[in-house]
Amino acid sequence: MTQYGFYFDSARCTGCKTCEMACKDYKDLPSTIAFRKVYDYEGGSWTDAGDGAYTSDTFAYHVSLACNHCAMPACMAKCPSGAIEKDGKTGLVHIDQEKCTGAGVCVTTCPYNVPTLDAETKKGVKCDGCADRVAAGEKPICVESCPVRALEWGDIEELRAAHKGTVAGIAPMPSPDETTPSIAINPCPAAKDPGDTTGMIVNEKEVTNVPA
Ligand code: SF4
Ligand code: SF4
Repeated sequence: MTQYGFYFDSARCTGCKTCEMACKDYKDLPSTIAFRKVYDYEGGSWTDAGDGAYTSDTFAYHVSLACNHCAMPACMAKCPSGAIEKDGKTGLVHIDQEKCTGAGVCVTTCPYNVPTLDAETKKGVKCDGCADRVAAGEKPICVESCPVRALEWGDIEELRAAHKGTVAGIAPMPSPDETTPSIAINPCPAAKDPGDTTGMIVNEKEVTNVPA
C-alpha cells in the first residue's frame, strides 16, 4: 500500500496562506471552515545583558497543516458510527458523509485540530487529500498553489528518503507518537520540538474551528 502524505518545508514557508485559500476555493468552503490551516508560532524574549545592551532569542515561523492521514488515526479509532475510513490503497483518511451522524467525536479526538462540524449539514468534514485529484494523477490543490514550493505530495516514505533530516512534528504540533502522522517536515532553524512551551500561536482566532 502506498501511504500518501505531505512534505512541508518550514524553512521556506512565508506564512502567506495561499495554500489555505486555494483549498477553501477549490472545496468551496464557507468562511467558517478551513481544511488547511497555517499556524503562526512565535516566542522568545529580550534579556538585559548588563552592559547597556539587550540580547534576543525571539523567533517566529509558520506551520501549514491539513489532515496528516495518520497511520493510526485517532479520529477513526473513536468514531462511534464507523464513518471514518482509511483507504487500503492510498492510506488517505476520509469521512463517509452518509455514515456520519455528526457526533463530533473526531473533532475532539484528532490531536491536530483537523475535523470540524459543518454547521449546515451537521456532519464532520476535513481534508481528504484531494482524493479525486490524486486518483487522476494530480497533486492536492494546496501543493499546486504554494508560491515557494514549500509543500510536496507523494508516498511518505519516498518523501522522507528524498528529504534527509525531516521530522514528523514541530511546535505547535503535538508529539507524533499518538497517531503516527504521514507528514515529513524540514524544520527551519527556529523550529521548536512538539510540546514546546516557550512560544505561542499568535493567530489563534484564524486556526480555531468555529463550532457548528
Ligand atoms: S490528522 Fe487528525 S483527522 Fe487526520 S487522520 Fe490524523 S487523527 Fe484523523
Ligand atoms: S502557500 Fe506555501 S508559503 Fe504560503 S503559507 Fe502555504 S505552505 Fe507556506
